[in-house]
Amino acid sequence: MKRKQILVTGGSGFIGSHLCNRLIDDDYDVICIDNFYTGSKENIRHLIGHPNFELIRHDITLPIFLEVDAIFNLACPASPVHYQNNPIHTTKTCVSGSINMLGMAKRQGVPILQASTSEIYGNPLEHPQTEEYWGNVNCIGPRSCYDEGKRCAETLFFDYNKQVGVDIKVVRIFNTYGPNMLPDDGRVVSNFIVQALNNKDITIYGDGNQTRSFCYVSDLIEGLIKMMATPREVTGPINLGNPKEFTMNELADIIIELTGSKSQKIIKPLPQDDPTQRKPNISKAKSILDWYPKIQLRDGLKKTIEYFRSIV
Ligand code: UDP
Repeated sequence: MKRKQILVTGGSGFIGSHLCNRLIDDDYDVICIDNFYTGSKENIRHLIGHPNFELIRHDITLPIFLEVDAIFNLACPASPVHYQNNPIHTTKTCVSGSINMLGMAKRQGVPILQASTSEIYGNPLEHPQTEEYWGNVNCIGPRSCYDEGKRCAETLFFDYNKQVGVDIKVVRIFNTYGPNMLPDDGRVVSNFIVQALNNKDITIYGDGNQTRSFCYVSDLIEGLIKMMATPREVTGPINLGNPKEFTMNELADIIIELTGSKSQKIIKPLPQDDPTQRKPNISKAKSILDWYPKIQLRDGLKKTIEYFRSIV
């Protein structure tokens, strides 16, 4: 039997590269598309030359025609520094990129999974966030290109489903961390670990009492695979994230302890529109996908610290 061809857009990025590994391990043929704006060849170097792996340098804002059996649409810079660097292109990636990928799914009648985000909830007034919550989003702020881009992508996914019957799967990914994150992408986990390993000051933005909940990447990948395997009626949106919530001060303390660092915490200004709290309600993921995160923060951080030690 012919191996199934799975397309992963953004396949050389942090999450995409872990997904490519997992799909190759599961004996699929993987086509990875990336424009390498934030994706890194290092993340997939070990797959280049593998008989089941194909790499295409391409920007999904432009049309592309491929024969595939399923699509994971992960392409988009996800860290605030990167998505704010070229905000017009961020919105284009979310909107035009989704239209191109949805067109491919429609032409071939194949399922397509959208990597949406907890950012669609903005600075949430409901806590924890359920999928029913509509969000609290500034449409003209520095985060808007990503937040509104991803919101519009969800709208497109659901309209392609309702209007032309595309088999869609929308997951809302909450903060995720692990090996293959970029050391300089400005995310809190990578920043704190790199700072701690170099015994540099740990930059706490604001008072450090804002919260996030952190999901280790292998848990997230399991959720993506389970979602893609659901029957057609399951469209989502479904939250995927770890409901255990930490303040940025707590995160910094744990990282200082695990690295044995001499770093001190220092206060820096809080970026505009920085959400004060974020924590997923994952009842749907539990009941529909039988999914919940298994890796504890300390265990995931240890693996992530090992990775950064090897590259920094
Ligand atoms: N943050 C911080 N120090 C840093 C980087 C980030 O205190 O060096 C804070 C940031 O203000 C936010 C949280 O950590 O409240 C998570 O930031 P990140 O950029 O990782 O993700 P997002 O804001 O998109 O959840």
